[in-house]
Amino acid sequence: MSHAQYFLEATYLIASCLFVLGLKGLSHPDSARRGMILAAAGMAAAVIGTLFHPDIHNYIYIAIGLMVGSAIGIPMAMVPMTAMPQRTALSHAFGAMAASMVGIAEYVIHGSSLGGIKMGALGLEVMLGSLTVTGSLIAAAKLQELMRGTPITYRGQQFVNLGLFLTMITSFVLWLTHPADAHYFYVMAGCAFIFGVLLVIPIGAADMPVVMSLLNSYAGLSSAATGFVLGNNVLIIAGTLDGFSGFILSILMCKAMNRSITNVLFGGFGTPVTAETAVSGAMREVSMDDVAVQLAYANQVVFVPGYGMATAQAQHAVRELGNVLEERGISVKYGIHPVAGRMPGHMNVLLAEANVPYSQLYEMDQINPEMPSTDVAVVIGANDVVNPDARDNPKSLIAGMPIIEVDKAKSVVVLKRGKGKGFSGLENPLFFKPVTGMLYGDAKSSLTALTQAVQKV
Ligand code: NAP
Repeated sequence: MSHAQYFLEATYLIASCLFVLGLKGLSHPDSARRGMILAAAGMAAAVIGTLFHPDIHNYIYIAIGLMVGSAIGIPMAMVPMTAMPQRTALSHAFGAMAASMVGIAEYVIHGSSLGGIKMGALGLEVMLGSLTVTGSLIAAAKLQELMRGTPITYRGQQFVNLGLFLTMITSFVLWLTHPADAHYFYVMAGCAFIFGVLLVIPIGAADMPVVMSLLNSYAGLSSAATGFVLGNNVLIIAGTLDGFSGFILSILMCKAMNRSITNVLFGGFGTPVTAETAVSGAMREVSMDDVAVQLAYANQVVFVPGYGMATAQAQHAVRELGNVLEERGISVKYGIHPVAGRMPGHMNVLLAEANVPYSQLYEMDQINPEMPSTDVAVVIGANDVVNPDARDNPKSLIAGMPIIEVDKAKSVVVLKRGKGKGFSGLENPLFFKPVTGMLYGDAKSSLTALTQAVQKV
């Protein structure tokens, strides 16, 4: 090996270690920022190492690519937090496009001389990469509301999808057995591009985070396959890490919603739900001053944020209220449900942005035992994740979904704008319980007004 190759392999080894450490860091909010920095440093090491690749003789195209990539990447990094899911979908599309273009280029350059094993890996790379490109673009368009967010379905859809899938796989097999016939290769790639679109259009916008995490996993596996084709170790390691962590995340998200992956992919979920929950009693509206008094004289207050906190951008307002309560000697905690909001870690990211101390963030399993000794549970724009029907009504559509049991607190205050339902479309019996008071209004305005009201008590 030449010096340049030693250097290349050394940077790839360092990059791989940094990716593993980065992923480890992301497992806890305390170390997540460090994890991101380590992973970014790993990517920088891999890119710098590759620049010393002995086969690179002309840096002009690389410089142009760098400029184009930066011109797209920098503005993409500036989008507001609420647009993060669609931004992530676009990143997946770009990553997968790179992998499938490398695969197509490798086949065009080397043709059948690649040999059976490399061609197998290349075929997987192009198939997974191509369907991830179009699937992620549709996911981004649905989340950005550039196209209808509700599932797009038609008669015989699953047969069409199955037919296309089988055509794609058959072309792949025929191409492997007739390596010189490029037609099979291009039919396979074309089917994969169309399959990505057809796979994602029947899925509702609210299920997109699960789909994206699955597509992320495909993009990772596609990169790993690229690594096999190019003999590039860092791509194999990073792709495998990405592939499996994406897959595990999809499973965890499904578990937290009590759904199966097949139900997300083929269930047409996200369609407006017609089933109603049997509720009795009436919602009891409470006044700002009433809530302020409850909070001011509490020993422990638990905030339970949900999607409404994200749409209202109320994270700074809740932090300010938390500060005021703490100054009065009240214990303040935040109960975080794993699928609160619309993407994994949604609440953690928003609260971290508002500098809420990590020590105050409690996961669902940690906060539930504290509920009976909590004086006031303040639900901020959350609905499904605090719906007691999931626990009490076996016939509910969300039966079995674990919840934050705010109804066990001595008092519950729900901050929401009106009688709007949550993502599941179900009525929430919590709002009708005697223990619950409804404080209507935009979460940010309500929290700001509550802070002022508590200061006057
Ligand atoms: P949710 O059930 O969607 O409820 C959000 C509530 O926020 C609504 O009832 C709405 O009521 C209220 N709201 C909206 N804007 C508001 C504002 N500006 N101020 C105050 N309130 C506002 O939210 P969640 O409890 O967080 O549950 C998340 C749901 O998303 C779960 O069903 C979960 O399975 C699903 N999901 C999550 C993920 C993930 O990764 N996190 C992924 C896919 C699906 P009003 O209209 O009356 O205000």
